[in-house]
Amino acid sequence: MASAAWRPLTPAGPASDRAIEWARSWNRRFVSELAELVRFPTVGADPRQAADMRRCADWLASHLSRIGLEHVGVLETGGPPVVYADWLRAPGKPTVLVYGHYDVQPAEPLGEWRTPPFEPAVRAGRIFGRGASDDKGQLFVHVKSVQSWLATSGGLPLNVRFLIEGEEETGSAHLPEFLRRNRKRVQSDAAIVSDTPMAGEGIPAITYALRGALSADIELRGPVRDLHSGAFGGAVHNPLQAMCELIGSLHDHDGRVAIHGFMIVFASSRRVSAHSWRRRVRATSR
Ligand SMILES: [Zn+2]
Repeated sequence: MASAAWRPLTPAGPASDRAIEWARSWNRRFVSELAELVRFPTVGADPRQAADMRRCADWLASHLSRIGLEHVGVLETGGPPVVYADWLRAPGKPTVLVYGHYDVQPAEPLGEWRTPPFEPAVRAGRIFGRGASDDKGQLFVHVKSVQSWLATSGGLPLNVRFLIEGEEETGSAHLPEFLRRNRKRVQSDAAIVSDTPMAGEGIPAITYALRGALSADIELRGPVRDLHSGAFGGAVHNPLQAMCELIGSLHDHDGRVAIHGFMIVFASSRRVSAHSWRRRVRATSR
């Protein structure tokens, strides 16, 4: 919820003031709509929730069209569907794509929840429910800001596309192919990943990079039968010890990744993205 330290970011002016005022006046309604969204048990990793995933996608699509977005669709991917919507009535203005996801992490261990994970509850100004802070809440901030602009100004100061997937927590397996097949539909000048936190309560933040993750199954084989420690200990390498050495060797003492060549790839990709970012900024600020 808004704190006293909060100040609106750009674009400042009467239109954004009106939208913010309107959003504040509808706060209770927005919170109850968010609760409705959190109530869908959209655990992507659980195949038993497939029907709920679809119900949630349908709910989002009808919500987006009700608030004035256009070309709304629940699009097939081979996995959980992508929800798409746009508002493209600002000719000559940049187009921003807002990315979000409606799938959530499993809620276990259930015993650690003070209230059931899919029965959202408000305590001390916060909503507690699985997915409320990843990513249904963040996504809703963008949805509701667009709604507030449309309701008070009848339009937006730029073009907006929403792309909301249902596979983020399980690795977005179908997203790359979806993007390839829908190049035109997702074409934008900038993309906002609506899946990041604020710097703190009352401190909005623009996240421009996130760390990645690598997962791997490693299988180590040792002797085919148990070896007597008195006879072989120390002389034959123990597979558990070898595994620890292997994992320990992934980073150096300063925490840098020690895999040969990794830092070179990382450094060059950073240069490329900074360069293309500057080019993009120059192009859109003309
Ligand atoms: Zn997320």
